[in-house]
Amino acid sequence: MTDVLLSELSDVGRDPAGGVTRFAWAAAELELREWFAARATALGLEVETDRNGNLWAWWGASLPGTAFVVGSHLDSVRSGGEWDGPLGVVSAFAVVESLRAAGWTPTRPVAIVAFADEEGGRFGLACLGSRLLTGAVEPDRALALVDDAGVTLRDAMSAAGHDPARVGADPARLAKIGAFVELHIEQGRMPVAGGARGLAGAGRPVGVAREIWPHGRWRIDLAGVPDHAGTTALADRVDPVLAMADGIVEVRRAAEELGILATVGRVRVLPGAVNAIASSASLWVDARGQDPERVRELVSAVESRLGVAAALESWTDVTRFDTALTADVAAVVGGEVPELPSGAGHDAGVLSLAGIPTAMLFVRNPTGVSHSPEEHAEETDALAGVAALTAVVRRMAG
Ligand SMILES: [Zn+2]
Repeated sequence: MTDVLLSELSDVGRDPAGGVTRFAWAAAELELREWFAARATALGLEVETDRNGNLWAWWGASLPGTAFVVGSHLDSVRSGGEWDGPLGVVSAFAVVESLRAAGWTPTRPVAIVAFADEEGGRFGLACLGSRLLTGAVEPDRALALVDDAGVTLRDAMSAAGHDPARVGADPARLAKIGAFVELHIEQGRMPVAGGARGLAGAGRPVGVAREIWPHGRWRIDLAGVPDHAGTTALADRVDPVLAMADGIVEVRRAAEELGILATVGRVRVLPGAVNAIASSASLWVDARGQDPERVRELVSAVESRLGVAAALESWTDVTRFDTALTADVAAVVGGEVPELPSGAGHDAGVLSLAGIPTAMLFVRNPTGVSHSPEEHAEETDALAGVAALTAVVRRMAG
């Protein structure tokens, strides 16, 4: 399902089976980049691609002061929804369009940004464009990332006409950003103050994000003794797949006990033969929650259950959005604006960790379903999001 705001993009990267696939630097995403440039140029904005492939459209670039930046990302996960990311970008363009039409002009630069490769759907590392910009990831590490077809980010960028030699921390650009507000489709039905679940529960079309929950990823490797499935007695086996299954169940049990979210969404069994006892099995644990101690407790519980240590692959501490900016944004939006946490990471979080004042606006997603063709916002809510963002830009950049 789509609406008037997203209709221009709706067919791009559409999967016959449903949803959209718009991986970084691949054909569909490149088409969206062209759309961004055309949309910006039509509005008289100056288009620029930064060193890390993030797209910028400037309004009043020569005005004094740091920029007030709005936007989000254009890429998607595989067979994802069309709202996650593009809603923030199309809303930003709609804001500029309506303000221009009303004869309003900013007193500080306003920029619309589309961060590159937010989802990490192709190369496995999320928020790549913003992390490279802030220096949170080393260029060599990023450029060596490989997609499922064996193509490196370096080669994918080159093929798309972006010079990978330019990639890396960009403090000069960062210094131009005075504040960043990312409007985004709501994801999940997160707890709202007062006990409601999500904006649907709160009965409000628009909310603000308070923080992004701390989030870790671990890998657990379990060793087995490979042997023949038809000749090895059950009692003689050392089968790591059984331990893996036990670990998966323990992840869920501990998550329920601790009141956090934890997921095993990826496993690997080697050699992966139907008729052989595996030589090794690995599972990946994604765990997040309001309290980082509980996240670590979950991993300890799984480790002691399996008798092996989990290898930490990534850890992001709680990311709090700028309190003053968030309060200002909520005040401008008006009414009772629910505050809710985010369980998902965002470019706004990466910028916040780099010291940029950031805030997020969420647009109600009635089911909370995201990264799925079912992801959806009602048109009236999407337009309420545009109205909120318009009020914010008027106030903060006027
Ligand atoms: Zn997103």
